[in-house]
Amino acid sequence: MPRFDRVDLDTPLKGLLGGTAAQLLEKELNIRTVGELLRHYPRRYVDRGRLTDIAGFEIGEHVTVVAQVVRAEERRMKTRAGSLLQVVVRDEKGATLNCTFFHPRKVAPFVRPGVRAMFSGKVGVFRNQLQLTHPTFELIDEEDEIRPFVSVYPATAGITSQQIWRCVRQVLDMIDLDDVADPLPEELRRREGLAGLGRALRRIHLPDTEADQHAARARLVWDEAMGVQLALALRREATAQRPAPACPPRPDGIAAAFDAALPFELTEGQIQVGQEIAADLAREHPMNRLVQGDVGAGKTIVALRAMLQVVDAGKQAVLLAPTEVLAAQHARSLRTMLGPLGQAGELGAAENATKIALLTGSLGAKAKREALLDAQSGAAGIVVGTHALIEDRVKFADLGLVVVDEQHRFGVEQRDALRSRGELAPHMLVMTATPIPRTVAMTVYGDLAVSALHGLPGGRSPISTTVVPLAEKPAWFDRVWARVREEVEAGHQAYVVCPRVGEFAAEEDEPDEPLEDDETEERRRPPLAVLDVGPKLAEGPLQGLRLGILHGKLPPDEKDAVMRAFERGELDVLVATTVIEVGVDVPNATAMVILDADRFGLSQLHQLRGRVGRGSAPGVCLLITDMPAGTTARERLDAVASTTDGFELARLDLELRREGDVLGSVQSGRRSGLRLLSLLHHEEIIVKAQQYAMDLVAQDPGLRQHPRLRALVAETIGDEERAAYLDKV
Ligand code: ADP
Ligand code: MG
Repeated sequence: MPRFDRVDLDTPLKGLLGGTAAQLLEKELNIRTVGELLRHYPRRYVDRGRLTDIAGFEIGEHVTVVAQVVRAEERRMKTRAGSLLQVVVRDEKGATLNCTFFHPRKVAPFVRPGVRAMFSGKVGVFRNQLQLTHPTFELIDEEDEIRPFVSVYPATAGITSQQIWRCVRQVLDMIDLDDVADPLPEELRRREGLAGLGRALRRIHLPDTEADQHAARARLVWDEAMGVQLALALRREATAQRPAPACPPRPDGIAAAFDAALPFELTEGQIQVGQEIAADLAREHPMNRLVQGDVGAGKTIVALRAMLQVVDAGKQAVLLAPTEVLAAQHARSLRTMLGPLGQAGELGAAENATKIALLTGSLGAKAKREALLDAQSGAAGIVVGTHALIEDRVKFADLGLVVVDEQHRFGVEQRDALRSRGELAPHMLVMTATPIPRTVAMTVYGDLAVSALHGLPGGRSPISTTVVPLAEKPAWFDRVWARVREEVEAGHQAYVVCPRVGEFAAEEDEPDEPLEDDETEERRRPPLAVLDVGPKLAEGPLQGLRLGILHGKLPPDEKDAVMRAFERGELDVLVATTVIEVGVDVPNATAMVILDADRFGLSQLHQLRGRVGRGSAPGVCLLITDMPAGTTARERLDAVASTTDGFELARLDLELRREGDVLGSVQSGRRSGLRLLSLLHHEEIIVKAQQYAMDLVAQDPGLRQHPRLRALVAETIGDEERAAYLDKV
């Protein structure tokens, strides 16, 4: 084995560990260096002092026990093909227990008589004896015995926690941890009372006490928080330095004319956010602003006013929507709002009028050519469209502003795709109705300045939400449809939402979030589908009403026709999937029935119900479910019914979601650099880290004097991201 004079975090594992171990770590976990291995933290610890005795087991309990294998025999199964490995183990006090394993060939090489291991599983009964069925196990080395905690590592099918542990032990013996270079500036560590990196790394792998574990994590989580915040600060810095077209407001332009003709007063929030945007647009560096406003807060007008300011400066603006339905609707409502101001080239247009072009993937060849021409020639001051706009490489005469509506459907990459065309970076305005918890705003959207659009326009009516629990109150089902009829008879319209399209499109339309109650899940019927529910309602409880059907699999022109008919009041009830989730605005719709409501996510339900009560009549939202009381699914629905506060719901949603999904979009590399940072639990650290990061980048643009911090950023975010904005600065 080659000798290393000095092992540090960058030392490759190859040559340091045995060849196979190094290979395995690389292949299974993409770990190549000492640093990468030591950053692979234990997932949890098993406290030896808390291991259970076999004698004290109770049926149904989840247990972990250290025991020695006394006997291991393979048996054929009587009722099925295949065999089982039946094992008897004995704990330190001499009590024995049966364990059954399903894949003898995989397990038998490890679980042999004489070995000691830690077995975990749920206690069951078989032939009057307690047993663990297919428990997980960790073999125990003799040297482990003396340590108070056993570290359990995130493992894969190809490498066990035990194997990882051995490698970590070896490496810890070779490296001088007091000598490890610490990326966090000393001043920061002192102020925050953080342990040095070397010490924290040792403690997280080999804690002597629980306090050790906490102290180690408290330090190491800072590395992640700083990595993310520095990445974002660098990103903000890089974009802020690009030149952008300055679009100062004009007192005599189309924007002013529009304001003067507004049929209603702007809300305080609209005025204030409007001022922030107007000031941003006037600058010579690109605006990057996120406007957060609950459903119905009136974001469209905020966007339109921004676009008009840009048009007044002789530039173009583009409005991107997540779906064709929404893009078409936006184009229509912008045209309506603008009136003669949006009819350039037409009879009766206002003097300084502009033109709105709609550009979606499904346009006919001729319409598409015209729209493309209008964008390219500059004839269209405002271009509305979907992703197709990005993908088809549309040329603009002079793009000044990109507005992205309903951001939660848009990725960072898509934002970048637009931003990077042309020499001047266009201004960017992102609008979302999804209330974003502070920590998420500071990480996932941390490259954007955030404006909150508070308050709803006057004249909006409250929505009351009721859970209809069919498990306990089956009779309520009929009343749901009676209620829909009442709304229609009063001259209003209703939505009926199903989780699935049905028939040909089954798989793709599964709801975003899995059920919590997975045990009941297996036996459940498939979610209700628009194509089944529609006809049944038409022939049954909603007979005689004018029903329309809308889902993502319809041809675009049909989708558009249905949506228009509903908008014009030619349909009473729209049976739809979540295509109506974002942005659809029909003020006369007052009722929404959501079938299989438990199949949707919290934020999704909140978005959905925002489609009703948009006019002056109060809205009602009925959440239909057959999940029984006491299940998590029901608790979630009750939460939606209990509050209309989007922020509170977002917080609950975050609690229920896997955080990795949220943070996933901040990093695109394969190996995730975020293991400890939690958006839920580390708000304070994230806030502080952002401040430190901003100060550091302000003092040292591009972090040229801080190579270790640059390395930390690279470690935290993926390779692609690094290429995108670390190497550029
Ligand atoms: P969202 O923020 O959900 O996108 P919209 O922009 O679609 O909301 O606005 C919802 C409805 O409120 C629209 O019909 C819009 O015309 C109306 N609206 C917007 N601002 C005001 C206002 N200041 N006063 C009255 N109605 C308004
Ligand atoms: Mg909207």
